[in-house]
Amino acid sequence: MIKGINKTTLVDYPGELACTIFIAGCNLRCGYCYNSDLVFNIHKIPTIKEEEVIDFLALRRKYLDGVCITGGEPTLFKDIIPLIKKIKKLCYKIKLDTNGTNPTILKELFREKLLDYIAMDVKASLQSYLKVAGIRNMGAKIKESITLIKESGVKYEFRTTIVPDVIDENEMEKISRTIQGADQFFIQQFRPDNKTINPRYSTMEPQQISVFYRYKSIAEKYCKHVGIRNIDNWPSLVEKV
Ligand code: SF4
Repeated sequence: MIKGINKTTLVDYPGELACTIFIAGCNLRCGYCYNSDLVFNIHKIPTIKEEEVIDFLALRRKYLDGVCITGGEPTLFKDIIPLIKKIKKLCYKIKLDTNGTNPTILKELFREKLLDYIAMDVKASLQSYLKVAGIRNMGAKIKESITLIKESGVKYEFRTTIVPDVIDENEMEKISRTIQGADQFFIQQFRPDNKTINPRYSTMEPQQISVFYRYKSIAEKYCKHVGIRNIDNWPSLVEKV
């Protein structure tokens, strides 16, 4: 299920020179998702053998410090734990990106001390997951993952993509309350793309930058550090502030 490697990244693993491994398959259907090939067309993308990945990482150990494991949703991959153990044996730091729908695997990963950083997407308020991520009855699992992550002792962040027609001030208040007390929360710019799962997001204009600062001040009532990401890609929206 390993479908890609970005051999060097300065942005996927905060503070570390890393590479990123892409694992296919996801249980959510976020309309704005631009990784739709990793969600739907997983058998069309060639699989990279695990041995190849491990060999590559062994050769790069001198140059890289971390490995970011992303998706899709990596916790759905049945061999995620053995894979991480093999990477850990090479003395890499591991960052996991997750949608938080699989607290059972997270518990195991924390118990075995396999993670050095975890980033969980909080798609929306718990009541809005059906609208945003196309899934019902996920609230309890999302809440459980949030609690596990906060109590794990592992460095973490929660993050929310500001999808213009979904995230408003009310949603931001509810999301921030759900992750109350979080060490780090990032709000990030939505990116229109011709591969989005729901085509209407392919041409939707991202949210104006001034709105990000309003949302940041809402989240700051609840979280210790709130950051804004990816707004630099949209200079045209800055002029509207
Ligand atoms: S954006 Fe949503 S659908 Fe796409 S990979 Fe992430 S969780 Fe899955």
